[in-house]
Amino acid sequence: MEYTSTGDSSVVRACVCGYEVVVRTSWTNANPGRRFRGCPGDNGSYCGVFQWVDPPICRRAKEIIPGLLSRLNDQERQLNEYRQKDFKKEALEGKLITYRLMGTVASVVTFVLIILYVRAVVSCM
Ligand SMILES: [Zn+2]
Repeated sequence: MEYTSTGDSSVVRACVCGYEVVVRTSWTNANPGRRFRGCPGDNGSYCGVFQWVDPPICRRAKEIIPGLLSRLNDQERQLNEYRQKDFKKEALEGKLITYRLMGTVASVVTFVLIILYVRAVVSCM
C-alpha cells in the first residue's frame, strides 16, 4: 500500500478483523524508524491491513540508522552485563558484611565467656 499523509481521507482506521488499527514503528533495515498503521493482530488473528504513516526513508538514513541501532543494542547488552556483575558483587559484599558482623559477635561472646570463666575460677580459690 502507498504512503498516505496524515489527515488524508484514505487513512485506514479499522482493519478487516473489525479492530481499530494501531500505529507502530518499523525497525527493519529497509524502513528503520518509519511508522505504519495496521491490524493490531489481537487474538492471534492478523488480516494484513497495513499503511505507512511516515514518508519513505531516504537512502542515507537507511544506510546509517541500522548501524546506529546495532551499536545501541550492543551498548544496552553490555550495560545489562555490567549491571548483573554489579548485582552479584553487591550480593557478595552483603554476605561479607554479615560474616564480619557474625565474627564480631562471636568475639564478644568468647570474651564474655572468658571473663565469666576467670571470675568463676578466681571465686573458687
Ligand atoms: Zn485485522
